[in-house]
Parts: sequence; C-alpha cells; structure tokens
Amino acid sequence: MRQPIIAGNWKMNGSRESIKALLDGIKAGMGDVKSAEVAVCAPSIYIADVAEQLKGSNIGFGGQNVSTEEKGAFTGEISTSMLLDFGCKYVLVGHSERRSLYGEDDALVAAKFAVARKAGLTPVLCIGESLDERENGSTEAVCARQLDAVIDAEGIDAIADCVIAYEPVWAIGTGKTATPQQAQDVHAFIRSKLAEKSKDVAAKVRIQYGGSMNAGNAAELLSQPDIDGGLIGGASLVAEDFLTICKAAG
Ligand code: PEP
Repeated sequence: MRQPIIAGNWKMNGSRESIKALLDGIKAGMGDVKSAEVAVCAPSIYIADVAEQLKGSNIGFGGQNVSTEEKGAFTGEISTSMLLDFGCKYVLVGHSERRSLYGEDDALVAAKFAVARKAGLTPVLCIGESLDERENGSTEAVCARQLDAVIDAEGIDAIADCVIAYEPVWAIGTGKTATPQQAQDVHAFIRSKLAEKSKDVAAKVRIQYGGSMNAGNAAELLSQPDIDGGLIGGASLVAEDFLTICKAAG
C-alpha cells in the first residue's frame, strides 16, 4: 500500500505574514488528515520561517529547486546542504516552470535529481507534456523521455524512494484539470514503464498528479488506482482548500 503524499508548491508567492497565517491554518486542521503525508515547498528565503513554524508538527517541507553544485561561485543558487541545514526533506526537480522559463533540460534535471538524492533529500521529479505534445499524441513519449533521462543516469533503483509528479503542463495554473481518466492513463503508463525495469520499484514509487488540483476535484483524481497524491500550486495557498485535498487523500 502506497502512502498518499500531498505537497504544496507555493512557487514565488507569500510573505512572512501570509505564510505564518497559512501554516497556522494548515496545522490547525491536520488532525483530520488520517493517512496522507503532507509537505510544503516554500520559496527558499522563507524556509527558515517554515522550519520554525513546523517544528513538532508532522508536516514536512522542502525547496522548489536546488543547485547541482555543492558550494562556491554560483550566485543566486542554493545547495543540497543548505536545504538540509534547515531541515528540508524534499526538493522539487524539473518543475515545468523551471524547464520552460529557465531552460532546464533533461540532463540538468537528472543531475539535480542525482545530487538531491545522494545528499539525502527526497526529489519530487516533475514530468509532463505540453498542450502541443498532448495534441500531437506524444504524451507518453515525452513522459518516457523525461523519466528515462533520470533512470539512464541513476538506475531504476534510484527512483524507488523518490516521488514522481505527473504534471501536464497545459493543466498547471490554468484551471484546466486533466480528467481523472486522462490522469490515470498516464500514471498507469508511467508505472508500466518503470515495471519494464523493476516491478518492485513500479509497485513502490508514489506518483502524484499536479495541474489545477483543487478542493472540488481532488477526491475523484485521488481515487484513481495509480494516483498516489497531488502536487498542488494555487490551491496550496489557501489553508482550507489544501486541507480539503489532504483529507481527500486519506
Ligand atoms: C504546480 O505548480 O506544480 C501546480 C500543479 O500548480 P497548480 O495547482 O496551480 O496548477
């Protein structure tokens, strides 16, 4: 049985004040979340505040990006050891905004995945097709290519203890959610791809859906057999909505 995992991706949103209120709200409702693992991925400048506010809670936290370098002359970058220094457990790698706006290619995403994992962080590997790619029928090929970039570099066993987030790019921040069946089909495809290399890894790895998941559509998406949680953008900024999603996961 895979434990569902719901993670908030706050992106570049919030202030010290709003984050405190958001976390107070989430913490207050966590008693009703029965089995899901819950985490938030904060802008790096707020991670210290988040760490302080989540002390003693069962909510994990992480970064939204990480450098492949350990230290040195890399202005503006954050290393794995810096994330770990503040208690981060997770880090997003390969989010579509990083891929499309900051030119992160499959090789760089694989390198980030590798350093994160080797340092002891849990990488949340984001993959997914654009609207053009869906419309021209290459959804599976794109997801396979993005996944293979990591598996070829790190080996299939490296995937077992990470989280995969399937995020169709056309559904991120657009209000257009994949239907539960569309999402399930791609999740099943991803799992079957993994199973070609290792049935154990395929059975174990958690695959989140991300793309306009909200309080209204979460339950149906999360009831699909291969959807093991959600990576939530917009709805993770509203405590009540985020909690509704966490509760829907179990
Ligand atoms: C995301 O940023 O990963 C995401 C899924 O965003 P949203 O929920 O806003 O579509």
